[in-house]
Amino acid sequence: MLVNFIEMLNNAKKERCAIPHLNINNLEWSKIILEKCQELNVPVILGVSASAAEYFGGWYVCYSVVSSLIKSLNITIPVCLHVDHGTKEECIEAINSGFTSVMIDASKYKIEENIKITKEVVDYAHQRNVSVEAEIGTIGLAENKENNWADINECIRLCEETNIDAIAPAIGNAHGIYIETPKLNFKLLKEINDKIKIPLVLHGGSGITNNEMKELIRNGISKVNINTDLQLVWKKGVMKYIENNKDVYDPRKIIYSGKKEMNKKIEELVDLFETKKVSNL
Ligand SMILES: [Zn+2]
Repeated sequence: MLVNFIEMLNNAKKERCAIPHLNINNLEWSKIILEKCQELNVPVILGVSASAAEYFGGWYVCYSVVSSLIKSLNITIPVCLHVDHGTKEECIEAINSGFTSVMIDASKYKIEENIKITKEVVDYAHQRNVSVEAEIGTIGLAENKENNWADINECIRLCEETNIDAIAPAIGNAHGIYIETPKLNFKLLKEINDKIKIPLVLHGGSGITNNEMKELIRNGISKVNINTDLQLVWKKGVMKYIENNKDVYDPRKIIYSGKKEMNKKIEELVDLFETKKVSNL
């Protein structure tokens, strides 16, 4: 069932667990993730970046693939189809294509402009029952070290003035592969969690230690974005398969050969995030 993330994230926040946001790239990834989460009986957020949507052939193709799979595979868990780091135009196009949730990323602008753009997306989205996440501070690439921590007062303003449903504050996390251990600002996270009532989102969840992840979730993180980790295990599985099956040239067998490793990683994440706490809610 395609839904927005409001209920699943509010439940996760209440139960102190997190919903996995897993990025999808193609039909195979969508199928693998949907089937595994159905088997585990947990809600899931499928994240789609603009470049992934383009790879699919457009937002509408991606929506069509996911919604058709849900139907033909009898997927009954709540599934949120979410834009990952969209511009206002991308968010609107995705909403018009059937997406149930968006992340408007206007974090590169000054706070006034961020609020203005985010509010425009919220107004458009909420009329259509679509949830909205926004970002504050800079969550850059791990290798660039371009991160700026979120400012608590700006977090409060962004929430109050736009009516967003979840917020992704930069707290020392980053996208991609961490070269050095990230220095997460737990003090800032606690302060934000104390003052802001909506669910908090962590980007760059790949490569954070299990203990830190548990502490993040205890302190209000209800959605964790995982992209790199799944890519790495998928690549490992595919390379192993090709190594052991040098004569195979059927693309279905090759692309799908990362399934076992992806399934194992998804199960580990669901355990770590304790997502099953919200299975029956
Ligand atoms: Zn991100």
